Amino acid sequence: MNHPVGPIDASVVPRYSGWSTFARLPRLDEVTNFDLAVLGVPFDGGVTYRPGARFGPAHVRQSSRLLRPYNPVQQIAPFDVMQVVDAGDLAVNPFDTSGALAAITSRALDLTSGGSRLVTIGGDHTIALPLLRAAAERHGPVAVLHFDAHLDTWDTYFDEPYTHGTPFRRAAEEGVIDSTGCVHVGIRGPVYSDRDRYEDQVLGFQIIGAEETEDLGWRGIAERVKARLGDRPVYVSVDIDVLDPAFAPGTGTPEPGGLTSRELLAVLRSLAGVNVVGADIVEVAPAYDHAEITGMAAASVAYELICAMTPRPVSD
Ligand code: MN
Ligand code: MN
Repeated sequence: MNHPVGPIDASVVPRYSGWSTFARLPRLDEVTNFDLAVLGVPFDGGVTYRPGARFGPAHVRQSSRLLRPYNPVQQIAPFDVMQVVDAGDLAVNPFDTSGALAAITSRALDLTSGGSRLVTIGGDHTIALPLLRAAAERHGPVAVLHFDAHLDTWDTYFDEPYTHGTPFRRAAEEGVIDSTGCVHVGIRGPVYSDRDRYEDQVLGFQIIGAEETEDLGWRGIAERVKARLGDRPVYVSVDIDVLDPAFAPGTGTPEPGGLTSRELLAVLRSLAGVNVVGADIVEVAPAYDHAEITGMAAASVAYELICAMTPRPVSD
């Protein structure tokens, strides 16, 4: 393969100019082959409180202009090793949830044909279900590493089964996830009753609660996560509300008492070597953001995930 086409050179074209692709990477139509695509899915028809995550992809792209090509902590230049592209935003029907979910699965399958991987920017958390369906079609049932303040394993809202609070229950019911390898990180806040956690456990999930962060530290969380995931194919789903509202105010259902951006990024960096086959970053709602705080956190999450998914040179 030819040398990958990297981000626009910021010493030639200032970061605040040019096309607004993720990390100023080339568009899908500008290259012939790619190893990893970043796709926007501007769907927020599944939210239960503040709407607005449909504007997440454009906001995260804008906030990603400051990302630089070399990651000194992971010691890797992902865009030199892989051809990464921006696949634009999927046109999803805002009035037809089932149609939107089908379109998302179909596009995810298109973009992962030939072994490429996908990092998706939402959108609300409803989109994790069709993305998991696609991941399972490619890899079989996947382990899910889920960062969120919320379980998202509830059954229905207003009798509707497809919402941003239900994707992982649907995924478990459909058998597209490997429940023996699933773990939630950052769960907190009041729930409806003690049945919520019980039912989540019955589905097979483990919980690392936000209140455990101080004692475990990011290393302790990373150790428990990696022990749980093992060598399974892993899908990483990051709801930006896993961060404390101080670090991510721009989201639909904020919960006080969350992780810092430093803790989240450190856990994500520890995933280098884990078989991450796909990932999403969801629930960025820019109308409630200030000074791009949430957007920049989400852009950094996507960048660290891409770095974690970058193949390492094999040492002799
Ligand atoms: Mn959440
Ligand atoms: Mn969520």
